[in-house]
Amino acid sequence: MDLADFYRDLHEHPELSGQEHRTAERIAQALVPLGYEVTTGVGGTGVVALLRRGDGPTVMLRADMDALPIEEKTGLPYASKVPGVAHACGHDMHVACLVGAAEKLKDDDWSGTVMLVFQPAEETAKGARAMVEDGLFERFAKPDIVFGQHVGALPAGVIGYRTGPVMAGADSLQVVLHGRGGHGARPETTVDPVLMAANVVTRLQGIVAREIPASETAVVTVGRLQAGVTDNTIPDTAELGISMRTYTKHTHDVVRAAIERIIRAEAAASGAPKDPRLDWTMSSPVLVNDPEPTTRTVSAFTRELGADKVMTLPLLTVSEDVGVFGDAAGVPTVFWFWGGLEFGVVIEALQHGRLEALPSNHSPEFAPVLEPTLTTGVEALRTAALTWLDPAS
Ligand code: ZN
Ligand code: ZN
Repeated sequence: MDLADFYRDLHEHPELSGQEHRTAERIAQALVPLGYEVTTGVGGTGVVALLRRGDGPTVMLRADMDALPIEEKTGLPYASKVPGVAHACGHDMHVACLVGAAEKLKDDDWSGTVMLVFQPAEETAKGARAMVEDGLFERFAKPDIVFGQHVGALPAGVIGYRTGPVMAGADSLQVVLHGRGGHGARPETTVDPVLMAANVVTRLQGIVAREIPASETAVVTVGRLQAGVTDNTIPDTAELGISMRTYTKHTHDVVRAAIERIIRAEAAASGAPKDPRLDWTMSSPVLVNDPEPTTRTVSAFTRELGADKVMTLPLLTVSEDVGVFGDAAGVPTVFWFWGGLEFGVVIEALQHGRLEALPSNHSPEFAPVLEPTLTTGVEALRTAALTWLDPAS
């Protein structure tokens, strides 16, 4: 199979979270002829593919499959053919590299089980949990280690990693504040939810500034604030959408409790006629790379790709739900990033101090260069798997 063609086809046909039907079909078509036991429809549109070769460890390799509701502006000849949907996070590259690694591993010598997991709905942080709840580890196999990778704004051919916390845990909260509406000219007859919401937004900023130690990191962002429709009317309700990011269980619990406490207290302080409604709608755990397995895997990358192709990364405030797998199976996770940007473009941006102007994940202009991105992504997954599988007996 021509992996570049396979990738370009996925890129042209992006599918939103939970709707990865065509993508799943293409994966199954590629893996069945290679001898993998393929099951589709796991946790929605997820795909599991197993290659069993006697005794030895079970190594799980994971790729996410979903695209984003973004209009692609890369101008590539193989740009998205679906209006308003694009593979702007590079998950098509993840799928292609995992299929490429499957092809190589079929011809490699090893003993154990290779477990490929193609996960739906990463962008909504629902897919990993959905697959686990659909019996991923009971119906198929329980891995000894979980590997995953993400393409990003590093030079193509370069792998970036860190040990310990890598990406933040993310939680989303939907809030409805109840007031009592009325005429804008007679606020004394109302309980103004707009003022209540404004106080909540301001007060929430005190959590990170005043309740989290300087040595810890957390983010609290109000990304959605909606109330009212007209100038001279005080509405009945105001709504907020809040996103939080943390790196430890303790900080997570502190921030979450503080958000709830402040919202309830502001409602009480305003004389709200009804308690606010709070719905935690999304939660993905902090992604932690276990130090020992990560070091062992990265040493193999260094041997295979060269020390100049492996770098350490700072802590990231973006999130991933890949950690759900390792947590649920009670086994280590090793997750790394690899570059998709043309080397010359990165160097030029560096020279002009404009590194942050380069298109990164979720930008309508983001798309990795085909090579050496594909080859590096395939080799990284293959190297990780072979490092943990037993030698052929
Ligand atoms: Zn993304
Ligand atoms: Zn992504």
